[in-house]
Amino acid sequence: MVAEEVESIAKRRGFFWPAAEIYKPIAGFWNWGPLGTRLKGNFLAEWKNIFVRGENAYEIETTDILPEIVWQASGHSEGFNDKQTMCKKCKSRFRADHFIEEFLKGKEKLEGKSCEELTAIIEKEKLRCPKCKGTLSEVFVFNLMFSVGVGPTGEQKAYLKPETTQSSVLDFPNVYRTMRGKLPLKIAQVGRSFRNEISPRNIMLRMREFDMAELQVFFNSEQKEFAGFENISKENIRILPAELRKGKEGKEVEVSIEGALKKGWVPNEITAYYLAKVFTFYLSLGFERKNLRFKELLPEERAHYAKVHWDFEVYTEDFGWVECVNNAWRTDYDLSRHQQFSKQKLTVFEDNKHVLPNMYEPSFGINRTLFLLLVSTYRKDEKRVWFAFPPALAPYSVAVFPLVKKDGVDKKAQEVFDLLSKEGLEVLYDESDSIGRRYARVDEIGIPFAVTVDYQTLEDKAVTVRFRDSTKQERVPIEGLGKFIKSAAKF
Ligand SMILES: [Zn+2]
Repeated sequence: MVAEEVESIAKRRGFFWPAAEIYKPIAGFWNWGPLGTRLKGNFLAEWKNIFVRGENAYEIETTDILPEIVWQASGHSEGFNDKQTMCKKCKSRFRADHFIEEFLKGKEKLEGKSCEELTAIIEKEKLRCPKCKGTLSEVFVFNLMFSVGVGPTGEQKAYLKPETTQSSVLDFPNVYRTMRGKLPLKIAQVGRSFRNEISPRNIMLRMREFDMAELQVFFNSEQKEFAGFENISKENIRILPAELRKGKEGKEVEVSIEGALKKGWVPNEITAYYLAKVFTFYLSLGFERKNLRFKELLPEERAHYAKVHWDFEVYTEDFGWVECVNNAWRTDYDLSRHQQFSKQKLTVFEDNKHVLPNMYEPSFGINRTLFLLLVSTYRKDEKRVWFAFPPALAPYSVAVFPLVKKDGVDKKAQEVFDLLSKEGLEVLYDESDSIGRRYARVDEIGIPFAVTVDYQTLEDKAVTVRFRDSTKQERVPIEGLGKFIKSAAKF
């Protein structure tokens, strides 16, 4: 599996590793190492460019712990559940739908099935505990939120947030007021979410604590037009609408945004607009078009708050289709529930009317996206391995090597390092081992360019630039080197 090779490089070179690794780590908690932190930082810079600056959104930063009433209002206390079964003998717990799916080898998708239906399958197929062969309990619901006792005796009940969205909803009136807002009002957030998964797995795909980047758009649902739509209406995307999901699976089709709207697959301009934005954003990250699609969720698969719900999925050989961005039109559900529970008025007054805004959100799973990016850009031939990241995402844009550590060559290389750093490039300096081994090391972490300073540099004031993907080399004068690299990187 590519994923296993990627995981091994990630741990060895510093993209990510399990939290508290010197002890027995708890499954589903991963830390970003130095290279992963750079990768994530570069991803967020691109994301903010498109979804914050590019959208005129207001970015906020919010707490991870929120009081219980928030989750009662949002519906998570009741609806944020997994269906589980427990071994009566050894007390092991299993997520019922996944457990049965594995047993049936994916013959049937079980998301949305009730506890009774799942229990019936367990009984009919005579499923037993895979660990001890004990009999299994009836299927029951288990809430996935982590509870937190706040205060010296833990008397104030609170939860780590299972989604970042609620903070934007709760802060909507403050943002609207302080920024003298107007609908559609866009709030962006980068933060963490927590989910007490019973069986975290597939490395960074199913975690208990994860990074999210989200945009919440508050809008007046009576306004059918959405600004910016005309700029993207001709974009083609690949989608699998509910009506093409016969027998629950089906094949995605390529269609223009305009076409998807005309066919009624997409309900409104705001949804269409953000589907196009998400799709083109993932193309820019280096994913292949054929490995991207939107899948519309069937009513029984949708979250409790969503009227329209599209999963944006990325395909890899190792994992099949994996959801990376949740795209949901949540109507005025969240605001109306908080209005009801807080007894505060959350409407805004526009065009001589009180409006309770609707909300649309694209919500990006950062760990999943970056892990699948590593898997998707991993390349290997007889001689070497490398990550074909777009230069803007690579942990460093360029590496600088002195051929030898003497005779002024190293001093010159240090000057080249300083020069490129001053030009705003992220530069890695490496002077140990042979040039061949240094090339191999920077390929393995996806650095797109490597610059070698040699004896000749002292004479001709030029260096050798090697390109990661082609391994081609070119002699380039030091004067203008920064410009040369930026232009090759399309910065
Ligand atoms: Zn058991």
